[in-house]
Amino acid sequence: MKKEDCIARAEKVLMHTYARYQVVLDHGEGVYLYDTDGKKYLDFSAGIAVFALGYDDKKYNEAVKAQVDKLLHTSNYYYNEPTTLAAEKLTKASGMSRVFFTNSGTEAIEGAIKLARKYYYKKHGTADSEIIAMEHSFHGRSMGALAVTGTPKYRTAFEPLIGGAVFAEYNNLESVQAKVNEKTAAVILETVQGEGGIYPAEKEFLQGVRKLCDEKGILLILDEIQCGMGRTGTMYAYQQYGVQPDIMTTAKALGCGVPVGAFVATEEVAAAYEPGDHGTTYGGNPFVTHAVSTVFDRFEELGLLENVKETGAYLYAQLEALAARHKDSITAHRGIGLMQGLEFQSPVKDIIARAMEAGLILIAAGTNVIRFVPPLVIQKEHVDEMVRLLEQSL
Ligand SMILES: *Cc1c(COP(=O)(O)O)cnc(C)c1O
Repeated sequence: MKKEDCIARAEKVLMHTYARYQVVLDHGEGVYLYDTDGKKYLDFSAGIAVFALGYDDKKYNEAVKAQVDKLLHTSNYYYNEPTTLAAEKLTKASGMSRVFFTNSGTEAIEGAIKLARKYYYKKHGTADSEIIAMEHSFHGRSMGALAVTGTPKYRTAFEPLIGGAVFAEYNNLESVQAKVNEKTAAVILETVQGEGGIYPAEKEFLQGVRKLCDEKGILLILDEIQCGMGRTGTMYAYQQYGVQPDIMTTAKALGCGVPVGAFVATEEVAAAYEPGDHGTTYGGNPFVTHAVSTVFDRFEELGLLENVKETGAYLYAQLEALAARHKDSITAHRGIGLMQGLEFQSPVKDIIARAMEAGLILIAAGTNVIRFVPPLVIQKEHVDEMVRLLEQSL
């Protein structure tokens, strides 16, 4: 199919929920993507922080193919080995106790909210509870996840959403404290805010929220859908804060391309769920969980956490230097590991389009921030190449 045909035909049949770039991607190799004309792109978006292993990781591909031939799906009425193994690896990596696999990030949030409500219900005998969420947060597009997403443009047309969500200011402990009352069931926040513009939690803030939750008997839900799975240099970002959540959500790089997410909880909190409380037809089937299990193995085999620390520090230094060279247009630089952002004075849409022309794939976070979330296998030479292509697009 010719590029123009593919785009024109897609525009006739797909809903207009995305303003897509005029490119038809065909295949990938390592940290590069190729379009149908054979043009090569350095990929600093990784399919929105998904493709941690890079494209075409042979061991991952072979594992996924083998599972396709063996068993794709069984339903959750029975046991299977891949799901058991993946859940073991996820609990070990996160320091949590029990897993529920979902098909996406937003479903992981739905399950986490339901679990927090059920826990509150069992403890207090009433379902009349509240969840404190953060301004500028992003937790997904389904009704529950939208209800705790603190960005009005995503929400307004779809209200009323689920009730009981109240908002506090991120990195402002007093603001969270001020929202706490006897109805508060949980606080939900991203350890590093992603879509909102790449804002890492400050240490005193996250530790303060944890302490507040402990004192008041409130659950802490950490959304690690974007910042988890090694992106910040530890398997989960909270592991750098000396804080453990009661419920944690993970997705994106968890499957590295197969649709899978999960919410994970402590033994005590998970016990609030009883058979029949929550379910899914596809969630955690042997196909996706074998992929998850392989992802955890590949992280170790490739030493990805080490690479994130090293290459992440290098990326940080290079972006600092770039920001210093363009003080007039770049107003801030934030981030941890391979999750960083450059904030510009004005919208970054045109810069991203020019970078695309030059052979560099970038994504925005909000309107004024360029987000850098490359595959975790990225090397220093790729950082240099990215900075060169970006600088010529400014
Ligand atoms: C992407 C994202 C979600 C939603 O995940 P989907 O798989 O798109 O439903 C939720 N929370 C955060 C922090 C995200 O980055």
